[in-house]
Amino acid sequence: MRNPPITKMESMTSNNLRKSAQSVDFQISYGTQSISYQVLHTARKTMEIAVHPDGRVVVKAPPGTALDAIKHRVHKRARWIARQLAWFQQFQPRTPPRRYVGGETHLYLGRQYRLKLLQGEKEGVKLTRGYFFVSCRNKPAPEKVQQLLEQWYLGKAREKYSEILAARLPEIKHLGCKEPKLQIRHMKTRWGSLSPGGVLTLNRNLIRAPRECIDYVVTHELCHLQYKNHSTAFYQLLERLLPDWEKRKHRLECLLV
Ligand SMILES: [Zn+2]
Repeated sequence: MRNPPITKMESMTSNNLRKSAQSVDFQISYGTQSISYQVLHTARKTMEIAVHPDGRVVVKAPPGTALDAIKHRVHKRARWIARQLAWFQQFQPRTPPRRYVGGETHLYLGRQYRLKLLQGEKEGVKLTRGYFFVSCRNKPAPEKVQQLLEQWYLGKAREKYSEILAARLPEIKHLGCKEPKLQIRHMKTRWGSLSPGGVLTLNRNLIRAPRECIDYVVTHELCHLQYKNHSTAFYQLLERLLPDWEKRKHRLECLLV
């Protein structure tokens, strides 16, 4: 499954705040995606739609252009706009760079926890009372904190992914499919994949997403045991196993993980 390029919701909101006095914001739906755009009436003869690298969609229209005409044009160009947004999205880092310093927040199962760095006898990470307590033998250095956290995440990924997979297995066996072998990897552009040999690979970063989103990725890949492509039959099966899969997919896409 591709890492979907529609994670612009947050920055769009902040863009909305930056709108100039004469511009108005609108939204259209395209698939499961909601695209915000600004309308600017400027001294010009034709309408123009521009998608900016920061994810802003701006429609410039001659003075007095009817709103319906603008909406109609945006609607007709929605596919193109979505493609442009996806194109620019790939150059955006999915998260602001983490610095692994005290007070910084990190995600686990869709919730944010603040880092508390300690110096102590024992090295390790503990998640309690809403904090990540990271204990280092020496003065906590960012590289060490990162290493300890990544180790902790990987352990949790192994545990949670196996749990989620185990919960889905009866349905899969019921379909007559063979149980896949689970593998956790660092993946740049995907949340998960299924090899022809039946290896289910999950992105180790997925542990930062809510459990319902991990379940969605697992279920999506398990459906590929039955159908290799994204055919209608594939989606029918996915829909049957996970009726609210679209909601979960959307939630995953809006997460900055
Ligand atoms: Zn797929």
